[in-house]
Amino acid sequence: MTVFSKIIAGEIPCYKIAENKEFFAFLDINPLVKGHTLVIPKQETDYIFNIDDLSLGRMMIFAKNVAKAVENAVPCKKIGVAVIGLEVPHAHIHLIPLQTEADIIFSKPKLKFPDEEMKEIAAAIVAQYQA
Ligand code: AMP
Repeated sequence: MTVFSKIIAGEIPCYKIAENKEFFAFLDINPLVKGHTLVIPKQETDYIFNIDDLSLGRMMIFAKNVAKAVENAVPCKKIGVAVIGLEVPHAHIHLIPLQTEADIIFSKPKLKFPDEEMKEIAAAIVAQYQA
């Protein structure tokens, strides 16, 4: 079971943003910037491009709705999208609020916000979310 499956199962806490039958979104615990969000399929698959076409399409539409909520909650120019997947073997899309191109450089040191601030960020995004 991956760490992300444990999050879906409620065995590991997370700052949840949204979920439906197939997908789940939550804040990255070590964000590149405030509002950095991850979108994952509930079905465990390591590599995103092994997901079947229709599911991948639905995952991107789910990510789009989450991205709109992040965009409305966190001051930014656009939401950047990235797939890395070298750390956690459970497919995930990174949604990253961008002010500059440098905001999406993954080799930069990650940030850590206090629990209260993460809760506030998540609540602000949740308030903007529309399925
Ligand atoms: P990568 O697999 O390289 O795309 O990176 C995995 C991402 O998952 C990193 O940005 C981590 O900060 C994030 N991450 C790892 N564990 C957790 C967790 N328990 N909750 C939220 N985000 C996590």
